Amino acid sequence: MGSTASSTGPLHMLFFPLMSPGHMIPMVDMARLFATRGVRSTIVTTPVNAANLGRTVDASAARGLPLSLHVIPFPDPAATGLAPGQENLSAVPTAHFNTFVMALFHFQPPLAALLRDLRPDALVSDSLFPWTAALALELGIPRLIFHGAGAFPLFVLSNLVNYLPLDPSTDSFTMNDLPHPIRLHRNGLPELVDNFFMLKLLGEAEAKSYGVVVNTFYDMEPSYVDYYKNKNHQGIKAWCVGPVSLLCRAAEERAKRGETPAERDRVLSWLDSKPAGSVVYVCFGSLCHFSGPQLKEIALGLEASGKAFVWVVRREAAEDAAAEAEWMPDGFEKGVEGRGLVVRGWAPQVEVLGHAAVGWFVTHCGWNSLQESVCAGVPMITWPLFHEQFINEALVVDVMGVGVRMWEGFRRNRLEEEKVLVRAEEVAAVVGRVVGGGGEEVEAMARKAREYGEAAGKAVEEGGATYEDVTALIQELEAKRKEGQKEK
Ligand code: UDP
Repeated sequence: MGSTASSTGPLHMLFFPLMSPGHMIPMVDMARLFATRGVRSTIVTTPVNAANLGRTVDASAARGLPLSLHVIPFPDPAATGLAPGQENLSAVPTAHFNTFVMALFHFQPPLAALLRDLRPDALVSDSLFPWTAALALELGIPRLIFHGAGAFPLFVLSNLVNYLPLDPSTDSFTMNDLPHPIRLHRNGLPELVDNFFMLKLLGEAEAKSYGVVVNTFYDMEPSYVDYYKNKNHQGIKAWCVGPVSLLCRAAEERAKRGETPAERDRVLSWLDSKPAGSVVYVCFGSLCHFSGPQLKEIALGLEASGKAFVWVVRREAAEDAAAEAEWMPDGFEKGVEGRGLVVRGWAPQVEVLGHAAVGWFVTHCGWNSLQESVCAGVPMITWPLFHEQFINEALVVDVMGVGVRMWEGFRRNRLEEEKVLVRAEEVAAVVGRVVGGGGEEVEAMARKAREYGEAAGKAVEEGGATYEDVTALIQELEAKRKEGQKEK
């Protein structure tokens, strides 16, 4: 085993996020969080991603935070099979997900060289770079895993083996010895569960790692943080460092998120004209590709709901009039003018959710979206699509009680062959029922969501559970550095 960092300056942490908005956004926020606590934080990424992050990192550096970017080249398209410039999962068609994941193995030589050169005190590595575990171990650098998911999904996934029915024809199963009985469906599990090659690598990498950093806060999922940290999870250390989105308050530091300043102003000033709690925000994250017919059903459903809405449509579905004409109902925007706003491409989600006019969020249950909704105290209408989103849905609806399902029973509409459209009538019925009221049960959900939002704010304040976990991790890394120096 090599020696740890020899520097005598502040602690130095290297952050190496998966190139996908749902991983880069929270990891950059996390790097900023550690920088605010005096840790020198370096984010490693590729040229196209660095161009997107540059402004936000510069803004943080300009206010004196020790935060910087280190750029390494994206592997040659000839070796990866990806097109030039396809450096982010959001630019890759769903069908090429595995090609992208395999391309990540090509980062081994440049990252090894960088780690040897910089010798940081810790490497925060995305879980999808499992090979960083052996490398960090060889160099004596503690590797902290960032999975992107919360304690509940991580706990559920690491214990699946105890619950999955052996009979492959049994579709649904219940994890019923937990604080809340969790009902899941075999086809709602993350795609990775079927990839034995990756699962084996991830398991081996986890066993070689120092610990896990989780973008959550204790009071959001207390039983499952305890389970994940202490009970069933074979001794791996975990620190709750979230919600990291709460630490990114300055608008210029949020610029990386992708919206143009003009679009941001348009959306926020539109919301300013709406009564508190009256608007539903509809957004399915950065990776979802809906078919034209599904987009049309959403449009018709929102129109028929009679409620005010902000709906984000991904760029490729709305990039030109011809693409849009394929699914947008005739006269749709004119018909909903003043009541509904279509955002093409990217909305300033954290700010939208934090706006008083927004009462509900139709979400695909990506972990960041879920956290951002909780931070803003906004209840959710759940529409999971893939990855661990069906598990997250169970957390929102069955455990936290801050959301309703868009449909009852199991349904999955990601893969073409499985496509079952969610109909306009269903969208209209749920949105129409809950937004702006909906009786005692719905009011109770909204109340609970607000309470979680307040708890999130307290967690990141000095003395809060997250603040203390971050302190504990920093102190542990400082102690490790001293230990390493003594050994020399
Ligand atoms: N996001 C945003 N504006 C959009 C779409 C997404 O700011 O129009 C952000 C959102 O706030 C979140 C991230 O992109 O931080 C999406 O991550 P999530 O885990 O919710 O979903 P994924 O994109 O990974 O499916």
